[in-house]
Amino acid sequence: MTDRNFSRRKLLERGLRLPLGGVLLAAAGATLTRAAQAAEKVCVDMEHLDSGQKSIRESLNYTNKSPHPNMTCGQCGFFEAKADGCGDCMIFTGPAAAAGHCDSWSAKS
Ligand code: SF4
Repeated sequence: MTDRNFSRRKLLERGLRLPLGGVLLAAAGATLTRAAQAAEKVCVDMEHLDSGQKSIRESLNYTNKSPHPNMTCGQCGFFEAKADGCGDCMIFTGPAAAAGHCDSWSAKS
């Protein structure tokens, strides 16, 4: 009788652990997905800019992902941060990515 109760208890404990483990794995997966989406967020869609906006970005070699980790738009004096890693550039008078970069980069003072 005692062994039978013990087995039933163990079975219940394991039965509760499995769904809890599944919930924790699903939550971890959702967090990773959101992080990946944030990292891939495109603040400036070059395809949908007007010709003037596109031209100035091209002439200053703007990129959504800076090749210089210490010289990003987020660290530039011309950048005004908004939400989700995006903001506005005073030079372009339009959107820029905090992770972006262009030839007019200037350190914040
Ligand atoms: S000037 Fe260039 S580096 Fe600075 S915020 Fe504007 S686009 Fe980014």
